[in-house]
Amino acid sequence: MPPRRVIGIDAGGTKLLGGVVDEQLVVHHRVRRSWRGAGRGETLDIFVEAVEEARSAAPDVDAVGFGIPSLVQAEAGESLWSNHLPLDRVPFRDLMSERLGLPVRVDNDANLAILAEHRHGAARGTRHALMLALGTGIGGGIVIDGRLYRGATGAGGELGHLVVDLDGADCPGACPGRGCLEVVASGRAIGVEGEAAGRAQPRSALGRRLAEGGQVSGLFVTELAHSGDPAAVAVLESVGRKLGAGLTGLVNVFNPEVIVIGGGAIAAGDLLLEAARAVVAERALPPARDAVRIVPAHFGDESGMVGAALFALSGGDS
Ligand SMILES: [Zn+2]
Repeated sequence: MPPRRVIGIDAGGTKLLGGVVDEQLVVHHRVRRSWRGAGRGETLDIFVEAVEEARSAAPDVDAVGFGIPSLVQAEAGESLWSNHLPLDRVPFRDLMSERLGLPVRVDNDANLAILAEHRHGAARGTRHALMLALGTGIGGGIVIDGRLYRGATGAGGELGHLVVDLDGADCPGACPGRGCLEVVASGRAIGVEGEAAGRAQPRSALGRRLAEGGQVSGLFVTELAHSGDPAAVAVLESVGRKLGAGLTGLVNVFNPEVIVIGGGAIAAGDLLLEAARAVVAERALPPARDAVRIVPAHFGDESGMVGAALFALSGGDS
């Protein structure tokens, strides 16, 4: 019998990544969408279109798992609140199941990302693990004593909204906070800091990009840094140190065995992580700082998609 196949969809603040995934976690077809500025109806249409595109390549899929950047009431499959997408009070599972004619499961994107990494990836075999997915924002997931920790009302694990600067900049999206970790250490923060560096150093490659009217995104900074550009390398080190400040607090609070860093920004790899590890080694409390490993996600920026597929595979018709 051929292996069962499902569709996993990981929705971030600005884009969606999906794929057909089989029981061995092999990804067969990928789909991508972007939805900058889309309203609620349009956003839901984009979800449906992405699933239908994947399904046209694999008509045998028998379930769909969604990871969405929302506070999700998992049993009811309802999106209660979302910082980055117009998905407040949306009965997401029932709506998608009706439109797609397939069993659907939905959970918070970062919860599904840590599910994939904990069961099959960089946190495998650990009982105490954290994950931060650095994208438009920062998704967070917490595993305590081998189990996903959701908090009193399911809103826990928002590691990106750990405040690291009391009077810092407003947190993007609908978060009322200021100086949250995601303001200074997300993929978007790399772009913001890259742009500031370009303005301060007009003769750098970042500065020339701005002079040409180009956009300095996190990905652009990262690619430049990998090619050895010193200004771009300095931006990643600076963001990595801020990430490290947040991780220092998390190490002191949770004493995790491993912190997995994923999301699109993990393309920066050790250019980002080395700086973060150095801050933790210098500032976190012993012995927790000596026990923790800070590692890139095994599934790279696809942890959320693989986790969504795992959730669908385990869910039956839920
Ligand atoms: Zn915030």
